Amino acid sequence: PFDVLVVGGGPAGAAAAIYTARKGIRTGIVAERFGGQVLDTMAIENFISVPHTEGPKLAAHLEQHVREYEVDIMNLQKAAKLIPAEVPGGLHEVVLENGASLKSRTVILATGARWRQMNVPGEDQYKNKGVAYCPHCDGPLFKGKRVAVIGGGNSGVEAAIDLAGIVAHVTLIEFDSELRADAVLQRKLATLPNVRIVTSALTTQVHGDGEKVTGLSYKDRNSDAHHDVDLEGVFVQIGLVPNTEWLRGAVALTARGEIEVDHRGETSQPGIFGAGDVTTVPYKQIVIAMGEGSKAGLSAFDYMIRTVPA
Ligand code: FAD
Repeated sequence: PFDVLVVGGGPAGAAAAIYTARKGIRTGIVAERFGGQVLDTMAIENFISVPHTEGPKLAAHLEQHVREYEVDIMNLQKAAKLIPAEVPGGLHEVVLENGASLKSRTVILATGARWRQMNVPGEDQYKNKGVAYCPHCDGPLFKGKRVAVIGGGNSGVEAAIDLAGIVAHVTLIEFDSELRADAVLQRKLATLPNVRIVTSALTTQVHGDGEKVTGLSYKDRNSDAHHDVDLEGVFVQIGLVPNTEWLRGAVALTARGEIEVDHRGETSQPGIFGAGDVTTVPYKQIVIAMGEGSKAGLSAFDYMIRTVPA
């Protein structure tokens, strides 16, 4: 069995594996796709101490760093089920989709999250070419330009307020007849001169010139009228979905499906830890995921030295 089995090969999982391997304990890492969301990212300009890098490059560096140590990397393997140990100090079991079963004294869950997409024509084609999902990451790339934010919940309205301070103009598009964000955020939004709010609107298409975004279309859900907006960026803020479908019943999740963790990364099950975008820790960012992964790795080691194997 492993001492530590990390599930997920993004920034959080890679950091966790490096920290535990450096303690000399037997570490394995299972990843559906090593690199995680970083693989889908182009410019990264907030990876502190590295002013500019690119997703695929950072992902390659993550893997290279993990391979410096004796870590058993099981890439392109999807975990399908977690069976927590029945007794303290017992072995946890992770069952893979291919039927194989891995046992470990501790498990670190770092399966990340995925942005919910609009699924309209142009969205995929112009991803990283004007279609963005993370205002903290990509907001500054649109300095002085016109953008839309899709979604009037808390994250959409927060994004609109954030972007309004950077870009020339923000069009906020909400499907419902009213915004769903907290009143305090809506009040703040209403004070901003360069934000237009459109409600009861269904985004139907992202337009581009083959290279980059040039606009979007939406349908007014009351009148069925079609409208076009000229702009350079579209921030989709209709939900970040944690990859925890496979964990239901195994560890405590919030109503939104995030793994509940405490300040040490401990989940509701002794010996099982969580880190990164898949958890309740706020602000889904690479440096934060790495910090949380490192923390979970140290917590797993701490658990190992304090727990007598059953
Ligand atoms: P992830 O990166 O999501 O990794 C999850 C890992 O778990 C992957 O290896 C995945 O394959 C694996 N996995 C999932 N389910 C299973 C399963 N059942 N079994 C086995 N493996 C599984 N952040 C920044 O700080 N700066 C940026 O500029 C930036 N830009 C971004 C641009 C885009 C387009 C996107 C999508 C995100 C961006 N982010 C950025 C956010 C950042 O990528 C995430 O915060 C970070 O990758 C989270 O790391 P993680 O390890 O928690 O999860």
